[in-house]
Amino acid sequence: MKKILIVEDEELIRMALEDDFRFEGYEVDSASNGRIGFEKAKSPNVDLIILDIMLPEMNGLDVCKSLRMKGVNTPIIMLTAKGQEIDKVLGLEMGADDYVTKPFSPRELQARVKAIFRRTENASGEQGEHIFTSGGLKVDINQYECFKDGEKVSLTHHEFGLLKYLLQNKDRVIDRDELLDEVWGKDIAVGPRTVDTHMANLRKKIEENPSDPKFILSVRGVGYKFIGR
Ligand code: CA
Repeated sequence: MKKILIVEDEELIRMALEDDFRFEGYEVDSASNGRIGFEKAKSPNVDLIILDIMLPEMNGLDVCKSLRMKGVNTPIIMLTAKGQEIDKVLGLEMGADDYVTKPFSPRELQARVKAIFRRTENASGEQGEHIFTSGGLKVDINQYECFKDGEKVSLTHHEFGLLKYLLQNKDRVIDRDELLDEVWGKDIAVGPRTVDTHMANLRKKIEENPSDPKFILSVRGVGYKFIGR
């Protein structure tokens, strides 16, 4: 059974979310402030985190950033308040996988959660070639792991999704729309800039020199291409 951690200080919202997720068949844990949320989120038993941004003791952006810095790659969906557009961008840059704007419908949130689990399962359930090595880079698609010169690289859910899709389509130019559809899903409203932001972060992690990349090349005006042997 998949376990969802809900970090939300507003009791009515938290309790409603707990009920919804239990009803959908998930195991649920919750926290009412950022500090407790951060402690609970570090557990490897948590499969997905619903993280509010405005939280007492430690805000959601800091929780997200601190988790990623610790190498915790559990998918995170941020809850952002209406009108705080900047939080969405910051959240994604801090390593969140998706966001939902309050007030949201339970159905919308459930759809986002299912989309993330679907992608995680696709990543782990595939047959055939799943280990890729090239010039100091090693990626195990089934194990969801990436190593650079023998050191483990911590990638977010979407960074790994991008890398995986590029690897599975190496030497082919892939446009941003295709990457959005494949990695974020057709039902999610994010734009081409999101692809570029994540791609820049991915390059920082896997390229020797991100401004002169040897793995992920930009194809001006179109998209990206992975060069592999
Ligand atoms: Ca709140």
